[in-house]
Amino acid sequence: MLKALRSSSSLQQARFTTGASYLQSNSRHATKLSSPFHGVLRSVLRDKNPKLFQRVFFCSDSGDGSGSGPESVVEEVESKSAAAIVPTAIKKPDDFLTVIALPLPHRPLFPGFYMPIYVKDPKLLAALVESRKRQAPYAGAFLVKDDPGSEAAGSDTEKNIYELKGKELLNRLHEVGTLAQITSIQGDQVVLIGHRRLRITEMVSEDPLTVQVDHLKDSPYNKDDDVIKATSFEVITTLRDVLKTSSLWRDHVQTYNQHIGDFNYPRLADFGAAISGSNKLQCQEVLEELDVYKRLRLSLELLKKEMEIHKIQESIAKAIEEKISTEQRRYLLNEQYKAIKKELGLETDDKTALTDKFRDRIDPNKEKIPPHVLQVIEEELKKLQLLEASSSEFNVTRNYLDWLTALPWGSYSNENFDVLRAQQILDEDHYGLADVKERILEFIAVGKLRGTSQGKIICLSGPPGVGKTSIGRSIARALNRNFYRFSVGGLSDVAEIKGHRRTYIGAMPGKMVQCLKSVGTANPLVLIDEIDKLGRGHAGDPASAMLELLDPEQNANFLDHYLDVPIDLSKVLFVCTANVVETIPNPLLDRMEIIPIAGYITDEKMHIARDYLEKSTRDACGVKPEQVEVTDAALLSLIENYCREAGVRNLQKQIEKIYRKIALKLVRQGAQNEPSGLGSEHHGEAESAGESREISSDEQTQGAAKSNETNHEPGSNTTEEAEVVEPNVSTDQASDLMDSETTIKSQDNETPNTTEKVLVDEKNLMDYVGKPVFHAERMYDQTPLGVVMGLAWTAMGGSTLYIETSQIEQGEGKGALSLTGQLGDVMKESAQIAHTVARAILGVKDHENPFFANSKLHLHVPAGATPKDGPSAGCTMITSMLSLAMNKPVKKDLAMTGEVTLTGRVLPIGGVKEKTIAARRSGVKTIIFPLANKRDFDELASNVKEGLDVHFVDDYNQIFILAFEDLQMEK
Ligand code: ADP
Repeated sequence: MLKALRSSSSLQQARFTTGASYLQSNSRHATKLSSPFHGVLRSVLRDKNPKLFQRVFFCSDSGDGSGSGPESVVEEVESKSAAAIVPTAIKKPDDFLTVIALPLPHRPLFPGFYMPIYVKDPKLLAALVESRKRQAPYAGAFLVKDDPGSEAAGSDTEKNIYELKGKELLNRLHEVGTLAQITSIQGDQVVLIGHRRLRITEMVSEDPLTVQVDHLKDSPYNKDDDVIKATSFEVITTLRDVLKTSSLWRDHVQTYNQHIGDFNYPRLADFGAAISGSNKLQCQEVLEELDVYKRLRLSLELLKKEMEIHKIQESIAKAIEEKISTEQRRYLLNEQYKAIKKELGLETDDKTALTDKFRDRIDPNKEKIPPHVLQVIEEELKKLQLLEASSSEFNVTRNYLDWLTALPWGSYSNENFDVLRAQQILDEDHYGLADVKERILEFIAVGKLRGTSQGKIICLSGPPGVGKTSIGRSIARALNRNFYRFSVGGLSDVAEIKGHRRTYIGAMPGKMVQCLKSVGTANPLVLIDEIDKLGRGHAGDPASAMLELLDPEQNANFLDHYLDVPIDLSKVLFVCTANVVETIPNPLLDRMEIIPIAGYITDEKMHIARDYLEKSTRDACGVKPEQVEVTDAALLSLIENYCREAGVRNLQKQIEKIYRKIALKLVRQGAQNEPSGLGSEHHGEAESAGESREISSDEQTQGAAKSNETNHEPGSNTTEEAEVVEPNVSTDQASDLMDSETTIKSQDNETPNTTEKVLVDEKNLMDYVGKPVFHAERMYDQTPLGVVMGLAWTAMGGSTLYIETSQIEQGEGKGALSLTGQLGDVMKESAQIAHTVARAILGVKDHENPFFANSKLHLHVPAGATPKDGPSAGCTMITSMLSLAMNKPVKKDLAMTGEVTLTGRVLPIGGVKEKTIAARRSGVKTIIFPLANKRDFDELASNVKEGLDVHFVDDYNQIFILAFEDLQMEK
């Protein structure tokens, strides 16, 4: 737009009849104007009076007869410059009533202005040359009307206009035009000077179009008319403004102003319209207007518009300039900033800084880095220098180098094989677990003798919450190795272990490389959690990737896809955890050393709760030991009624719950004490003096003046002293206690800022942990007919379960068995076997009893929502069926486990410890185990075995005797 405005202005400039003084005074412009006309003007100037020339073009009347008309002046000029311009004898313009019609495509020609046009029609051009030769250098210049058919007005006018001839052309011309003097013809360029207004009356000849014209005169007007004067002044003011804003016209207006004295209104109006950038129709309107006042008004309008355009132009130019300059400023400042930084040595360029960073990382332990790795690092560093910093490959290489250089090549923590220290640490962290600790100490001892503990994978297996993870942590502490844990439960993507190839976007190395980077040593203890829950991969098998990682034979050269250089994991100690070992892939299991942790019995849980969980929770809650007391009875109740599972995680949660509530209680008390401690003394004077209470620090300071020594005397009766000092303080606090818990007096005067001690006992335990959860484990006190307690073993530890049999119907040959309780295939088969064996045994014991032949039986294992399977319920099923058949309940508090063959042999089972613990928990007195499991049982700690009547059998008949016949004997 800016450009368009400017170019249109320059067009105007070109059309403007430049004054002589202007040409004279402004050589810059003069040289620009290089048309032949200007050449003529300049040549005239050299020997003509410039004043005269100025008058000709700025001040002459356009021919309305009022004053010295242009005709005469022109004559004067032309006569004086005859030799240079035109022949001397010329006709007066008035004589030209028949003129050649020149079509003007862009703008009308105003009297007093010059205009160069290009005449493309050779015939027309020839006629013009001819008429000039004939000393009739005048033609009529008429603005072309827009082609009514074409939309883009004026765009194709110039092109087509010369193709029009005769009538057609005449129809396209505005009727009113200007008598134009042809001042020069050079090639097809013709320079015209406007003289006076014409109106076409009729066509004379067609080619070139010649027309008959009337010479128009402005309507007469009163020169002293105020309105005309005022309007003309306004035109002049506006002109000044316009010309001020546009340097283009400034010189012209100056010239014009110099002659403002002899201006006239019609010429002023023409001048205004001619220099405005208005469109051709508006200009034509001014040209056609013969009423001087109206013409002034029109002209004023156009100038005002011009003014507005200038304003917009200015604001646009300003905005753009501002934008450009701020950007330039930024750029400049940035460059300076960079230069300053470089000068101060704050930053060399990016790549060098990066390379330096990587070199700094590897330089300190260059000798320890394996040569093949060092070589790769060097190559990558070189590559980094060559790559474009903005390329994606640069980023890949940078990340790769970042990983390569961040790994702890050859840096180890000093392993500690001190068995005594290890024992101490293990005991510090965990109660009991003697067998587990012993195994770990053995392991450390072997390490000490060999000088290295590598090549072993320990797998701790057991139910949740028994301390597998925390033992792993303790081992790391005992051996002085860094600890890193990652869980592979549900892991199905091999890339998690082996890393992605570097070519992928967002590629990452595998867990082991991440581990080494994060621990910073090459010999950490890595705990791989939930190895029994390793997922199945869709692409690649995570189990074999794990094997590659764990196998001491392979992991000295473990190849991570991302890292692409072998790393040595043989110094890493792997400890895995699992709930059950059965689901661990066999090749992995093969290389592991399984250390089972079975779970805890009540007694052990008591110790763990008291000596470990309570302490750590108390510290974590910010409660001081003297502020709280949890009685043994409360803990026991908590363990027996709330946390019966094998592990202690739930127990820990419950203890945390208790301590959180205690903390809140203490804070609430504190909040109550603070405002009332000092402000509301001597409350509740009616309270008995002997009531137990304790002393707050404030009270002590208050009382210090009176009983300074006695308060600190060891063994002194502080209760009494306190009462003497401040007899009635805090009695109201005691009564404020919200709960029913006992408030006992703090005996220890050295902890002055304690408030009431919170006591948690069996009675108020419910306030802290809610009602006990219902346990279906022991449903019957005395098992009814057909019901026997079995022992099972799951990932959650051991548990007891009942097996129930009942008779559906009886009748000749109706013998059958149906099963419920979500039994798996193995248990279903067990039931079938049990049915057969039971029938055989009954046949021997009571051959007349037709029970199995004639009874349809239903066997159910309660807790129907839990799927059950496994080969250890055979004995229990047989016993249950026989109990029903013989109409004899089994011995009270008896539980059994074991699978039976068709011949009645009892097969060994797993999970002896878990099952024993579960049986104890359910109050079982007599347990029957397969004989083959005797050794497992003997290995159990004495406190687990304590008080149990355990029998080992290898034939079902022995169970029969224990379950039924002993009963007989007892009776
Ligand atoms: P797991 O890994 O077997 O599921 P955790 O190791 O997470 O169990 O143990 C749960 C919580 O029980 C831990 O806070 C741990 O310290 C505690 N814990 C477990 N066994 C013992 C123990 N024998 N002595 C002390 N704290 C124990």
